[in-house]
Amino acid sequence: MIQLYMPLNFLGVVYRELKQSTADIDRMFSIMDQNREIQDAPDARTLQILDPRVGPAVHFDHVRFGYEPNRIILHDLSFTIPAGTTTAIVGRSGAGKSTLSRLLFRFYDVQSGRITLDGQDVRDVTQASLRQAIGIVPQDTVLFNDTIAYNIRYGRPDASDEEIMQAARAAQMDAFIEQLPEGLATQVGERGLKLSGGEKQRLAIARTLLKRPGLLIFDEATSALDTRTERALQREIWQLARNRTTLIIAHRLSTITHADQILVMDHGRIAEQGTHAQLLAAGGVYASMWDMQKREVPAPDLSEPLA
Ligand code: ATP
Repeated sequence: MIQLYMPLNFLGVVYRELKQSTADIDRMFSIMDQNREIQDAPDARTLQILDPRVGPAVHFDHVRFGYEPNRIILHDLSFTIPAGTTTAIVGRSGAGKSTLSRLLFRFYDVQSGRITLDGQDVRDVTQASLRQAIGIVPQDTVLFNDTIAYNIRYGRPDASDEEIMQAARAAQMDAFIEQLPEGLATQVGERGLKLSGGEKQRLAIARTLLKRPGLLIFDEATSALDTRTERALQREIWQLARNRTTLIIAHRLSTITHADQILVMDHGRIAEQGTHAQLLAAGGVYASMWDMQKREVPAPDLSEPLA
């Protein structure tokens, strides 16, 4: 009995950990294919994105959700991210921000209401097509014990070395790669070169660029990088997000002042909604969060043209 229990228990732990971190979604589903809680509907269709160049319109329609039935995390949540625009979500720790991205990937099903991409309910499309359409730059990128090329190519297995270098260039990682003795063939991860937080995030951006997802989710790291890296990365993120449907889960307000729309979440509800300027003028929760953070970290200058 114990022999059977141990591996099952181990799998359960791995599954929970990966599910929690949203860190490496594709990998998780290839490992855990047999262990899914959520199944495709028998007549599930392939997700169709109306304009793949800008990505889908995303709609949360009266969504109610809890991980456990008696503890509701999202209460009757409704909002729209128009196709090709950027929405940032801010709010206290535990407000339910990361839960939104887990629901978009359909790790869980809503208890009531619905989530649609270009009008298609996530429960009516195949999970493979849904996950193919979403790219996430996670808080903490999981690296494989393999080469830099392998780690970037993971975004699109049939990509050529030239396409990998193009993605690396766009993520401003090319100079770093070129100065390594073995370039793209350099081993990274636990048994190879250790990358810094900023380098890992650039790698995640390159991987996501290569995947060319319709919907981009950027889960901002809670721990601040050094100011120069932070500014350079923000510029890259805005470049990546420009004219593409993007959801940014933000911890630092200075990084999202350019968003088309900011949602302030509080206890699973939207407390405020608007642009940075509108929310400051409203003088509510966002304005006081801004005042508080301004005293801690000076806002980076994003007025220069993007690279
Ligand atoms: P942070 O800013 O700290 O990342 P968040 O706003 O992203 O927080 P979520 O991760 O969405 O918050 O979590 C919302 C609530 O759901 C929290 O109270 C959390 O404890 C709970 N929660 C998250 N994951 C699970 C889970 N797998 N099972 C049960 N409860 C969970």
